[in-house]
Amino acid sequence: MASHRSFVAVIVAAGRGVRAGLALPKQFVDLAGRPVLRWSVDAFAAHPDCRQIIVVAPVDTEGLALAETVCAGIEAIVVRGGAERIDSVKAGIARADQAELVLVHDAARPGIAPHHIDRLLAAFADPAVAGSVPVLAVADTLARRDGDRIAENIDRSTAVRVQTPQAFRRSAVEAAHAVWAGPATDDASMVRANGGLIVAVEGDERLDKITNEGDLERMQAMLGGGLPQWRTAIGSGFDVHRLIAGDGIWLGGHFIAHDRKLEGHSDADVLLHAITDAVLGALGAGDIGQHFPPSDERWRGAASDAFLKHACQLAAERGAIIDHVDATVICEAPKVGPHREAIRARIAAIMGLGPDQVSVKATTTEKLGFTGRGEGMAVMANASLSIPRHPPQGE
Ligand code: MG
Repeated sequence: MASHRSFVAVIVAAGRGVRAGLALPKQFVDLAGRPVLRWSVDAFAAHPDCRQIIVVAPVDTEGLALAETVCAGIEAIVVRGGAERIDSVKAGIARADQAELVLVHDAARPGIAPHHIDRLLAAFADPAVAGSVPVLAVADTLARRDGDRIAENIDRSTAVRVQTPQAFRRSAVEAAHAVWAGPATDDASMVRANGGLIVAVEGDERLDKITNEGDLERMQAMLGGGLPQWRTAIGSGFDVHRLIAGDGIWLGGHFIAHDRKLEGHSDADVLLHAITDAVLGALGAGDIGQHFPPSDERWRGAASDAFLKHACQLAAERGAIIDHVDATVICEAPKVGPHREAIRARIAAIMGLGPDQVSVKATTTEKLGFTGRGEGMAVMANASLSIPRHPPQGE
């Protein structure tokens, strides 16, 4: 039901209050991967009849900067708000270019979708209508309170909750703002008081306002439903160590007696090094050399368990889960097969995983190259991690 009535969206994001449990004013906190304000900006930007988006930012410089950051990459005008909501709306409407209608919306209502806008616009087919607002029936019993007593019930049969966006003929909302004195909780009450006809259209729980952390979680459940709460990250690792004369090698934290050993600053456990790099890679946390520089005397002869444990600890700090590790050992000798189960169990123990989450394979290079000539061993490893989209807040 396209209306073909162009409108200007004024999104009021001027609140400066930081509620308990939130680190920023609520319009700037993350909701399923986007700041709360951005949800509304994106919804209006996607509507074909939207001519202009005006975001009213908090009056302070930090708030203005936050709003500008949120709107980056979108064609939106960011203006500084006023001390009261009414001043902010006025500042927003003042920047509107010519369009027949103005939609005023609270940034703390991120659940806006195109069909909500369409319903509001459709109401203007009646030339007598000055404004349209989304409303919801009241499900709870309503009562008047007298101190700590309930005085009497209020008839809820005609009571509604009024939401935003609220749509107005531009002339009607400008006229109402020009003459209004005193506070107002919404613009429809001002237009109505100024003689304008306001009609109700069907509201939506998704248009409810976020006022505290609990609302944020509820809204996240409603809007974030389509987005997985976890992302999968795959990291890869590769390592090589030279084989020299010796009495055995450390491979995956397991000692294999052999007529050679691996040369290195630490115990040269090529398999644990590759897996450590794979875990670090999935976390985007650099590489093993950055965390444990070979120039550092602390790591001379060190058991490589410590390196892998450190990478797993980093993952845990980010709330990440290591799902699986797969490694391929590349050498002609020693034979890995007889040690495979012991190696898997050892790696699983270091990482706090089940043995079925660790795979160790082996191959030769058909006597080709440095591994084929027995000059060294190589390992390729992959680690897959599930990483929360909403990492735990820092202490
Ligand atoms: Mg190494």
